[in-house]
Amino acid sequence: HIAVIGSTNIDFVMHVTRFARPGETMHVHASSTGLGGKGANQAMAVARLGQAVALAGWTGRDMLASMARTTLEGAGVDTRWLLEDAATGTGRAFITINRAGENQILVDGGANMAHTDTSLPLLLPALDGAGMVMLQMEMDPTLMIAVARHARAHAIPVMLDPAPVPAGGLPDELCRLADILTPNERETAALTGIEPKDETTALAAARILHERGVSTAIIKLGHRGVVYSAPGAQGFIPPFRVHAIDTVAAGDCFNAGLATAMVTGHPPAQAVRVAAACGALATTRAGAAQAAPTMADVTALMAA
Ligand code: ADP
Repeated sequence: HIAVIGSTNIDFVMHVTRFARPGETMHVHASSTGLGGKGANQAMAVARLGQAVALAGWTGRDMLASMARTTLEGAGVDTRWLLEDAATGTGRAFITINRAGENQILVDGGANMAHTDTSLPLLLPALDGAGMVMLQMEMDPTLMIAVARHARAHAIPVMLDPAPVPAGGLPDELCRLADILTPNERETAALTGIEPKDETTALAAARILHERGVSTAIIKLGHRGVVYSAPGAQGFIPPFRVHAIDTVAAGDCFNAGLATAMVTGHPPAQAVRVAAACGALATTRAGAAQAAPTMADVTALMAA
């Protein structure tokens, strides 16, 4: 199975014609409430692709926690190590999207951010027998380092989505422990000082990441596609042509496709193509976790 150690949020999404001003109360023209958080999104997307997956982390002990758990379990995600933290609340994100498609996002990490490396033993059963562990940066960095150390010691490959990049940068040790690092354009610029615009600039950024100890760098360039640099293989995968309506969680679905393809034995170039198809399909549907495609959708797009 794939083990995802990461955040679980409930997203409150409000569609407005324009952002509210201080002191103003406004009616929105549409709203929705759904599962989010990069950990939950990635786990949902892996499950949707038909691969066994466990999500380990924390919710609060509240109504939002049961909503999150029901959604995850409905998709077939193993939630035995998604624990409840009575002292805090389930993570929540308040997302406002205006008519231009711009967004404003406020996040209360809540239970996701309440645990450090001392809580590692609580999550370790999720890694037992895992073929890959997927991490993001919506939990305390000390906990992510502890998980990655354990994974390395047990020869479990680590896929790290450096999102969001912490204010002080990504810890050096995490770079060294990341077998696969998957930054998007913004994160690549924050990590390397290079704005990746095309294959040449993305490969220059990848070289800097390799110097920091990253084994495989996969740079997500949104609608421009993706560049990968693995030991003995590098290249560019052009974007699949789709009608994008909502790019939320495209990166999470991309990572889920990449992990699923890698644990099922695809070589890097082919795994990145599967991932790019997953990311592209995610943009054709609204929502975060709900936007994830099935393997049948992915195969159909790749054959088209
Ligand atoms: P993030 O969501 O982390 O910002 P990106 O926006 O870079 O990540 O999207 C991840 C991947 O999904 C891209 O590298 C690409 O393969 C695919 N993708 C994203 N947007 C599009 C699009 N408009 N058309 C086709 N593929 C896309």
